[in-house]
Amino acid sequence: MNLNNQNEEKLLVVHENEVESFLKSINEYENITNSKVNCSVCNVVINIDNFGLIIKQNGRYHYSCDKKECANIFKIKMRSE
Ligand SMILES: [Zn+2]
Repeated sequence: MNLNNQNEEKLLVVHENEVESFLKSINEYENITNSKVNCSVCNVVINIDNFGLIIKQNGRYHYSCDKKECANIFKIKMRSE
């Protein structure tokens, strides 16, 4: 995955098998394994199993869990902020 030629505000869809290596590559893996990240919609703690979507916005990563409702709301929410 190449992030260099993409905009800051980018929705990333990561394949299940690649979540761990992807999170390590962006230095977010520790946050996930230490339960420091919550779904931006329902606030559930994000872990490797329920990881849904990630958006980088203003240099920060925002997550949603793998629930379909959250993914939909998340996309709208992130676009409008
Ligand atoms: Zn959620």
